[in-house]
Formats: sequence, structure tokens, C-alpha cells
Amino acid sequence: MKVRRLVTIDGTCGEGGGQVLRTALSLAALTGTPFGIEKIRGRRRTPGLRQQHLTCVQAAAALCAARVEGGKVGSGELLFRPGHAPVAGKYAFDIATAGSTSLVLQTVLPVLASLAAPSSVSLTGGTHNPMAPPVPFLQASFLPVLSHMGFHANVTLMRYGFYPKGGGQITCEIAPRSPGAPLDLAGRLPVTSRRAAILLAGLPDHIALRERQILLAEGGLGEEEIDTMVLAQGPTGNTVWLTAEQGPCTALFTGFGQRGKPAEQVAREALAPAAFHQASGYGVEEHLADQLLLYLAIRADGRFAVSRLNLHGSTNMEIIRLFLPVTFRLTPLEGEAVLVACR
Ligand code: AMP
Repeated sequence: MKVRRLVTIDGTCGEGGGQVLRTALSLAALTGTPFGIEKIRGRRRTPGLRQQHLTCVQAAAALCAARVEGGKVGSGELLFRPGHAPVAGKYAFDIATAGSTSLVLQTVLPVLASLAAPSSVSLTGGTHNPMAPPVPFLQASFLPVLSHMGFHANVTLMRYGFYPKGGGQITCEIAPRSPGAPLDLAGRLPVTSRRAAILLAGLPDHIALRERQILLAEGGLGEEEIDTMVLAQGPTGNTVWLTAEQGPCTALFTGFGQRGKPAEQVAREALAPAAFHQASGYGVEEHLADQLLLYLAIRADGRFAVSRLNLHGSTNMEIIRLFLPVTFRLTPLEGEAVLVACR
């Protein structure tokens, strides 16, 4: 393998969270570039590697036989040296806590979906975690856009996993990369349909009824546009999500139930960002935006208009540029909307 210079990263840069590390891991494994990072998750209340981030490190290392120094829970520094080009295959990673399975997938998917052979990944941990993409977001919003760009993956929810118990499982089947087409979501995309779903697992019915009430009264949804899924057995958890179909995009917004958080607030947590996004008229919302950037950069083409570019997005561009010779051009649009173009 070609010897590449070591990329050094300050973990407090920009957003200063786990995504700085995950993007570096993905691109190190994909390009064979070694990196060192210090002050990992330096802007978080509990800095350093948590179990979920350590699993990301181990997962990325497994793809490319990386040599890792500092790979333990609590570590603030890490050195990651890929041993060979990434290899497609069958992988299984267990976070062993309720840490987010989708964030571990966020680390390995850009690598495996870029290869010419199929892979499958099984992940155990949390499946509907606050501050992370829940499984419905991956399935309805994220993966369909990736597929258009030639990165093909399907996620199946095998078992629910909520904080604090975890124990959920997802599997991801990844097909060989195809040429695909550059992403072009620059214009406004009218909302053609809206739906909401309430997931209630092992909790009293009044929670779902109160959430439904808010979706009807404040979200302007009709009775027939709201699905309620009740899991009588198994773990306890509650999530509300709203989907808005906008041409080739589906925007998805989630409210996460939590002990002590009123049901009404959970529903409003999904409604508020949906209203902001829909008022802009653009197709890509902020979470989808920061997660698409890596794939635009791997393809070195594509553009999209995002209703608001958040700090995760700008930080991700900063880290991507350390590994790939791409430029992102940002053009302000109305309000907080921005057109992002990659070359
Ligand atoms: P970090 O905070 O650095 O660990 O990164 C969190 C990641 O999870 C980012 O890629 C966010 O876009 C993503 N994320 C957080 N909340 C949501 C959500 N509600 N829906 C979809 N993605 C999310």
C-alpha cells in the first residue's frame, strides 16, 4: 500500500463531537490514510471515547486491518494506521451498551458501499437513540438518496433497542457500488404527502394518545395520516416521527421519548424542525445534509439545497478536506438555506 502522510486532527474542531472521529475513521479506512486525533469529543460533556465510539474504531479497523493506539474507553487520543485496503465481507459489531447502531453503521457504510463486492453488517446496541439517526431515518430518508448516487444498502430492523437497555439489532446488506448519478437537489421541492408514526413499546397507551392529539391539533395531520405501532412485549421506548415526501427526497423528523419528558413535548420535538424545514421549501434537512457530505466527497460531485446548514455539516466538510482533494462551495439562499456543491 502507498505510504501516506499522517493526518492530524484536533477533536475540538467545529462541532467537536463523535462525528469528527467517525468521518476520519471512514476516510482513513477508505483511502489508506493514517491519522492521529487528540482531545477526542473535546466539546462534549463527557469527552473521550465512549463504548459506542470505541466500537466505531474497532469496526473501521476490522475493515482495513488497522493498527490502533489509544483504543480504549475514556481515551482522549487515538492513532489509526490502516494495514491494507478495505475488504468487503460479513461483519458483526456489538456495542455492548445502548450506544447507537446507526452511528457505527455511519462509520463503516461509506467504506463498504464504495467497494466492488457485496458486504453484510450486523450491529447490536440502540436502534432509536436521541442525537443519532433512528432506523426509520436510515430506511426512509438517507439510504434512498445514497442509492441514487450509486451506494446501495438496505437496513433491516431485527430487534428494537432503546436507551438505557440497548440490545437491539439491525442488519445492513450492502451491494457493490454502481456508477449512479451526481446528486442534484438544488431547487425547491414541494411537499406531496406527510405522515406521522408513533412507536410505543411497553408503555401506557395514554402516551401515544396524547402524542396523536398534538400531531392532529398542532401538526395539521389527519387521523388517517398517523400510524401507531404498539409493542406490548420487549423493551420500553417511545418515538414519534414525521415524514414529508418531497419529490425524490423524504425528510424525516424524530421526537424521542424519555423518562420525565411529557408526551406532548416528544411530539413537538418532531413537529418544530419539520415546520422550519417545510417553510424553506427545499428538499434536504440539516441531518440528512451532514450525512450526505461524505458521499458527495467520495464521488467528488453533486449539490443540494439544505434548509439550514448546521455545525455538524460545516465540521464534516472541514474533516473531509483533510483526507480528500475536494472543494465544497456554499451559496447562501433565502433565510438559513444554503446551496452546497462539491467538486
Ligand atoms: P455527533 O453528535 O457528532 O455524534 O453526530 C451525530 C450524528 O447523528 C450526525 O450525523 C447527525 O446528523 C445525526 N443525527 C442526530 N440527530 C438526528 C436525527 N434526529 N435524525 C437523523 N440524524 C440525526
